[in-house]
Amino acid sequence: MGVQCRLTFYSANAADAEEIAQAAFARISEIDAAVSDYRVDSDVARLVAAAGNAQYLPIAPDTQFLLAKSLEIARASGGAFDPTVGPVTKLWRTARTTQKMPDEASLRHAAELVNYREIELDRTDDSPPAARLSRKGMSLDFGAIGKGYAAEEVVKILRSRGVKSCLVALSGDVFAGDPPPGESGWRIDIASGQGRTEDPEATILLANGGLSTSGDTEQFIDLGGVHYSHIIDPREGWAITARRSITVIGPHGWMTDGVDTPMCVLDEAERKRLLERYPGCAAIVFELVNGEVRRTTLGDGVVLGKVHFNSK
Ligand code: AMP
Ligand code: MG
Repeated sequence: MGVQCRLTFYSANAADAEEIAQAAFARISEIDAAVSDYRVDSDVARLVAAAGNAQYLPIAPDTQFLLAKSLEIARASGGAFDPTVGPVTKLWRTARTTQKMPDEASLRHAAELVNYREIELDRTDDSPPAARLSRKGMSLDFGAIGKGYAAEEVVKILRSRGVKSCLVALSGDVFAGDPPPGESGWRIDIASGQGRTEDPEATILLANGGLSTSGDTEQFIDLGGVHYSHIIDPREGWAITARRSITVIGPHGWMTDGVDTPMCVLDEAERKRLLERYPGCAAIVFELVNGEVRRTTLGDGVVLGKVHFNSK
């Protein structure tokens, strides 16, 4: 998945800890082997290479799960989340390297290949999971949902080995087991990323749940005075220009990671509606409006009760 993974957990002795950590990293390798878009032999790479072919390809349970959840979030967000957005992200990625605006005709052509409805899952009873992409040139990636999923899967491995207090972080996607001994949660600091200060704007006490942050603060390109995020509005084929950083907290890693990305695409009313589809989730939204950082919160008050806002 191309990111660093950090495990923090409590165990009785160092030898056990080493063995447990190895099992945790083996689980990550397993997920990576199924869904990585860097490996030529992953399910994702095979599905993309065979896009447009009539036959279904067998897929691993991890791929099947992520496909099903991606389609669910794509529908729930009215297409603001779309795992087939790859042809468009690729053009914007090149733009970040060359510092040149993508060519409009290429963007239009790429946008035509983006459509989650053209992912087909084989629904034949009793057959092993299989899928296909119905149009040649289509792409598939789980960049917006896979890390949160993997973080929770690692916590499951740790729990199965008797570890209770643990925290797993894959870049901005974090999943926690029980709190550290004697504490009520793992302290996670969140910076708005939008202000002039790097000081945390909020501190969250996280336990038995996930936290994911998405936004324009790390990967973006400034061209002609406009700030283009690495997050794409798949309905427009265009990079998001609003300055937002959104943290979602909730019961599952696939959920917090999957939901944080379309939250950055949607407007305020649509964000509220999306979050209502995911009970137990809450969101903290930081937006840069007229040079000022504006903070709003959405969703589950119980979850938000565990958030301490450090300013104002
Ligand atoms: P995240 O950090 O979870 O917001 O995921 C961002 C990554 O997801 C990007 O680097 C793209 O690979 C991909 N992506 C960008 N926009 C979208 C979108 N609207 N729906 C699904 N994936 C996206
Ligand atoms: Mg995400």
